Amino acid sequence: MHKGRLYVFTGPSGAGKGTVLHRLLDEVPGLSLSVSATTRVPRPGEQDGVHYYFISKQAFEQKIAENAFLEYAEYVDNYYGTPERPVEEQLAAGRDVILEIEVQGAMQVHRKRPDAVMVFLAPPSLEELDARLHGRGTESEEKIRQRLETARRELEYQRNFAHIVVNDTVDHAVALLKALILHNRTENNPEAACSR
Ligand code: 5GP
Repeated sequence: MHKGRLYVFTGPSGAGKGTVLHRLLDEVPGLSLSVSATTRVPRPGEQDGVHYYFISKQAFEQKIAENAFLEYAEYVDNYYGTPERPVEEQLAAGRDVILEIEVQGAMQVHRKRPDAVMVFLAPPSLEELDARLHGRGTESEEKIRQRLETARRELEYQRNFAHIVVNDTVDHAVALLKALILHNRTENNPEAACSR
């Protein structure tokens, strides 16, 4: 059986990664989204084990010591990390796996797994990002300011990514990503590409 491919999907907070990915998961069979662990508190409606594994700082640091993460990073005062084992299991089962993570973690995966497909989702502009973060209404003004400051730094990393998708419209971004995944599947395994 062919192993699945690992996709790293990154971009500043507010670029629309979540929206684009959920459409992609609905439209492309055979894709799994990795569930990260975080020390951030859940937002209203977020469920443990679905959106994230919400764990304490102490539990997170224990997992770092056990080498349980494929990558992890500190982002705006919290830890975020990708549990490695489920990713391995899904890939071994032939499913493509998507990590939706920030830039520092993405660069760690790039070094560890040179075969990972690196995708950067960029907002059309910083002004648009600002408007989206305010529109979402989930963060305080101070947290939004920190996220925008981080976004400015993250945008400088774009050049390290093989694929840069500008999220001008969700339809457009989803169409480009679908094309990328289907292209990779055809290259990997011409017969299975159509049947998955
Ligand atoms: P949020 O707090 O908005 O859910 O996520 C903040 C940032 O952390 C986003 O850019 C998100 O992509 C990133 N993130 C989520 N999970 C992980 C992870 O497992 N590792 C890393 N490095 N970043 C993550």
